[in-house]
Amino acid sequence: MTDLRISPASEPVRARPHRRDQFITMAHGAGGKASRRLVEDVFLPRLADPVLHRLEDAARLTAGDTRLAFTTDAFVVRPLRFPGGSIGELALNGTANDLAVSGAQPLAVAAAFILEEGLPTDELAAEADAMSRAAAAAGVCVVAADTKVVERGRADGMYITTSGIGVQQVAGLGADAARPGDAVICSGPIGDHGTAIMLARGELDLVAEVRSDTRCLWPLVAALCAAAPGGVHVMRDATRGGVATVVNELAASSGVTVVLDEAAIPVRPAVRGACELLGIDPLYVANEGTFVAIVAADAAATALMALRAVPGGQQAQVIGEVTDEQPGLVLMSSLTGGHRIVDMLVGDPLPRIC
Ligand code: MG
Repeated sequence: MTDLRISPASEPVRARPHRRDQFITMAHGAGGKASRRLVEDVFLPRLADPVLHRLEDAARLTAGDTRLAFTTDAFVVRPLRFPGGSIGELALNGTANDLAVSGAQPLAVAAAFILEEGLPTDELAAEADAMSRAAAAAGVCVVAADTKVVERGRADGMYITTSGIGVQQVAGLGADAARPGDAVICSGPIGDHGTAIMLARGELDLVAEVRSDTRCLWPLVAALCAAAPGGVHVMRDATRGGVATVVNELAASSGVTVVLDEAAIPVRPAVRGACELLGIDPLYVANEGTFVAIVAADAAATALMALRAVPGGQQAQVIGEVTDEQPGLVLMSSLTGGHRIVDMLVGDPLPRIC
């Protein structure tokens, strides 16, 4: 029998006491403060596994001598198709990326499709094709699948859940591994995905050329980790809640301060313009092909060069640094010279973007 163990056995994340939310709201699906509260209130007390309690992108498991990573993700994006991608592609890349930023090469994915009665079969076939193309690009096999159907009006066409397994290739990573002096790197322009979805809904009187950044991150992660062996401390894909939320999670897990440099954060002009009209800060907008890496200061230049040599990483930037001023805090040094606190996402300004 295979010896399946969990690793590493470090301290679980402690739930903070707070008043329970009585009902589920859209904010609980946004990946920000309400999502965190729901996890701490409902799941952590009931699902006691210390690996789950680490709240990482993927669980790291050991089977005999093989070090694996395992994760799952659900996709309820509306509309199903949008500039740059669609739900089938997103469902494959999203799970592959949670494995990748855990230092694991994605290996296999299982997909469950929840279909609404009346959905054109051609639309389902198109999404199966999109998933297949994304799997080929990511070097992943879709090895198991399931379908369920719900009555007309009980789902928006289709929802997809994917689970994935990968082989750990990078040691020493962890959300708690950022250290004062480290550099914070962003792999590319932020806010593309969430902005593309909002524009695709056609609810805004706005036309802009913005495409989702959905892509498999493994080639970027592999290049980064090969260029800076031992120098990469933390990686996280900046999905729901955007870079602001992800950096807050990492600052809290590592007990460090992150100071971001507003001028260094890459944002495409079209995304900046659309976000200004929507009254949303791109720092909170979801990405599906962009990640944050916290690396040793002396590895930052090499890491940046490696990322910029890979498609999707050409605009990678050092966007901040780790300090020990106030543990758990994220600060923004602004264009005007001052500092402001950057909180996690509160509420849900862009519902159902993934
Ligand atoms: Mg993730």
